[in-house]
Amino acid sequence: MAHREMTEEEVRNRVRALLKEVHPDKADQITFRGKQYDHGLAWVHFPEGYGGLGLSPAMQSVVSDEIAKNAKTTYDDMAINPIGIGMGAPTILTHGTDWMKKNLLRPMFTGEEIWCQLFSEPGAGSDVAGLATRAVREGDYYTVNGQKVWTTLAHISKWGMLLARTNPEVPKHEGMSYFLLDMQSPGVEVRPLHQITGEAEFNEIFMTDVKIPADRVFARVGEGWKVAITTLMNERTSIGGAVSRRGGGPIGVLVDLWKSHDSKRFSKEAETLLRDKITKLYIDSELLRLTNQRARAARKAGNPGPEGSVAKLAQAELNKKIWECAMEVMGSEALVYESGYNRRRPSMQDRSGRVAMAKYQFLRSRANSIEGGTSEVMRNILGERVLGLPGEPRNDKSVPWKDIPRSA
Ligand SMILES: Cc1cc2nc3c(=O)[nH]c(=O)nc-3n(C[C@H](O)[C@H](O)[C@H](O)COP(=O)(O)OP(=O)(O)OC[C@H]3O[C@@H](n4cnc5c(N)ncnc54)[C@H](O)[C@@H]3O)c2cc1C
Repeated sequence: MAHREMTEEEVRNRVRALLKEVHPDKADQITFRGKQYDHGLAWVHFPEGYGGLGLSPAMQSVVSDEIAKNAKTTYDDMAINPIGIGMGAPTILTHGTDWMKKNLLRPMFTGEEIWCQLFSEPGAGSDVAGLATRAVREGDYYTVNGQKVWTTLAHISKWGMLLARTNPEVPKHEGMSYFLLDMQSPGVEVRPLHQITGEAEFNEIFMTDVKIPADRVFARVGEGWKVAITTLMNERTSIGGAVSRRGGGPIGVLVDLWKSHDSKRFSKEAETLLRDKITKLYIDSELLRLTNQRARAARKAGNPGPEGSVAKLAQAELNKKIWECAMEVMGSEALVYESGYNRRRPSMQDRSGRVAMAKYQFLRSRANSIEGGTSEVMRNILGERVLGLPGEPRNDKSVPWKDIPRSA
């Protein structure tokens, strides 16, 4: 999609006009972000009327910068509605109906309506195309039965992006459709699943005779896989492609811990080795940050390609190493986890306030190489789609889904 030309100064002027009309330090989140959307400054690469101005995505950082210069209150999209803004919005824009574009994008951006992603099932994670949840057309509705798992934020979501099987007679990638599910529909049951941190960010979902109006389908019936790829590519970029300030984020916390560590805890040799390790992690963090910055500047307004999987892989592995190293720096103090594994539901504010909590992050980061696609699967994508290596043997690609052996 070609984008409109607008100078940085013109974009800054538009932000100033927004701030004159409504200021984030004085208005609440929903009012301010609603106006930001109306001014086309929510996601500037989206078309006018849908929260954008049809500009290059690189201009979004100009918007954030100008708001941060003029206001104490700033909002992080990923803390407000990570799955909606990171994955739902581009999916609606690319494959959604006009009704979806008109009615769902604004409340998604303001945070009034939270979104979740209903892809994974007990028998279909990495191989999500093998999923078994069934959607059967009955008049003006589809009736859905099945189970989803690991559904982040489902307990507070208004909308779910649901991938379900509409035709079991054809090969697995061809028989899926992608639905918009109202999470408050009768027959949707959400049960918490607790993680190693003690928190339940995600859920099991049981769907029993759930009715979805037949027009709540993205793209066309049977094209669910194509839509799912758009969601997944954006998921990987939104997980791995964030650009923080130099020395910020996890590596900043590690460096701060190192600066205040008790030298008596280590021998001279151990201290030197640890300093080397931290320096290498710092360099790797900076490499990833600059690579993401370059990828963002080069990105046209369309959906990201397989390069998002590379960033996601690098970020997951680096994050785990950084928090492991933080535990080494903390020594025996790291063995005590203050929250005592209390089982709880984190709030949206809790989620964004966790960055500086090294012990929590050490536990949470174990999931980084699983969520959004495992590191092994990212390596497969990198090998096949970026490096052009031979593909994995896939024996079930042309077999009707109903004939593929499965345990459930
Ligand atoms: C914190 C968190 C949040 C999540 N949120 C959501 C969500 O909101 N919505 C949602 O739908 N899902 C969500 N997921 C699920 C996530 O997408 C899956 O866990 C992931 O895709 C892996 O699937 P699986 O757990 O079924 O593991 P499996 O696919 O069973 O994999 C098991 C192991 O086998 C390896 N493996 C599998 N296939 C291959 C292969 N072809 N080559 C090499 N190795 C392979 C894997 O790498 C892994 O090590 C979340 C997961 C986590 C941890």
